[in-house]
Amino acid sequence: MASEKEKQISAAESYFYKTYNRYPVIFDHGEGVYLYDSEGKAYLDFGAGIAVNGLGYGDPEYTAAIQGQAGKLLHVSNLYYNEPSIAAAQKLLKASGMDRVFFTNSGTEAVEGALKVAKRYAFNKDGKGDHEIIAMRHSFHGRSLGSLSVTGNDHYQKPFMPLIPGIKFATFNDLFSVKQMVNDRTCAIILETIQGEGGIHPAEADFLEGVGTLCKEKGILLILDEIQCGMGRTGEMFAWQNYGVKPDVMTVAKALGNGLPIGAFLARGEAAQAMVPGDHGATYGGNPMVCAGADAVLSIFEKRNITEHVKKTTPYLEKALDEVVEIYEDVVERRGMGFMQGLEFSVPVAEVVTTALVQEGLVLISAGNTVIRFVPPLIIEEKHIDEMKEKLCSAIKGAGLK
Ligand SMILES: *Cc1c(COP(=O)(O)O)cnc(C)c1O
Repeated sequence: MASEKEKQISAAESYFYKTYNRYPVIFDHGEGVYLYDSEGKAYLDFGAGIAVNGLGYGDPEYTAAIQGQAGKLLHVSNLYYNEPSIAAAQKLLKASGMDRVFFTNSGTEAVEGALKVAKRYAFNKDGKGDHEIIAMRHSFHGRSLGSLSVTGNDHYQKPFMPLIPGIKFATFNDLFSVKQMVNDRTCAIILETIQGEGGIHPAEADFLEGVGTLCKEKGILLILDEIQCGMGRTGEMFAWQNYGVKPDVMTVAKALGNGLPIGAFLARGEAAQAMVPGDHGATYGGNPMVCAGADAVLSIFEKRNITEHVKKTTPYLEKALDEVVEIYEDVVERRGMGFMQGLEFSVPVAEVVTTALVQEGLVLISAGNTVIRFVPPLIIEEKHIDEMKEKLCSAIKGAGLK
């Protein structure tokens, strides 16, 4: 006899488009940094719904804010103003030092908007329609066609050709390879401050500063995708704030809503003036419901000094992961910043991730074939890091690695 859970999973497999390989777990609720499945089993969460649930689960202040808004007003459209969006915009601009913001419903839409800003900005200057964008190999910017066009991954792109023209790919952390691709038509360079899906690769300071200088010299817009690495994850509000470089345009999403679907693109200076009424829109974008969530997140970040907590706790996490590198031959290297860390293995990690989840009750995410990514809720404490390390070691052994 199939269990209730097995029946539900097999129903799900017959309903949904087969675009995901899911683990055989049905999550039901969460509390703090733990998730609970439909059978009541607890899981320590070091994935945060792919770097989304920065405040963990069931935060009383956040929950009260969204519950209050849910009973008040969900949506009015952008034909009118709403207070939560004004409050969230003000806080996000202050935290980023940008001049203007556009709220989207997801990360990929934020990237689409940023690309449109770059094209519009260049068009405003010369009236031409031949502008190019430089992106990075092994990048990830989303699944819609514009974002996919700047995602440097053949596997994702190939079945959907032709994508938008005028995109060139340079090598991340190789300034010379970027310089080689610049010409009079280049309007923007887009990169993740820390490559996430590509395997947790932080930009090197020299590289990012070099790209920033190059952009300034040539009048090219620097677009930094902070969708995964932003919102406090590195111990600064945005990862670029760890470097001496400020983007012209940036994107944010994931942890901005702590689970409500919201993203944004922001810009400063001339780039913030590039678009005019009619150039861009989104029916839901910036609606009062999701903005009440984002506004609560931004308030809580400030009130509880979440970035300081991340900064303070990072050495403990790094030390724990470094010890795992020491212990196991198959674990090659740790990379990352703050609470965005990766462990590179010399073998595929799928088995470790599955064993951690199913046997140990530890939620981990891979980033490519051979990297385990650690993007926990930003509220984890040292005791959770100890628990994670113990479970991770058991999972590595359980998966038969050495
Ligand atoms: C997740 C992610 C995106 C896409 O965000 P969605 O909300 O899934 O559309 C874009 N860029 C980066 C760096 C991401 O990590």
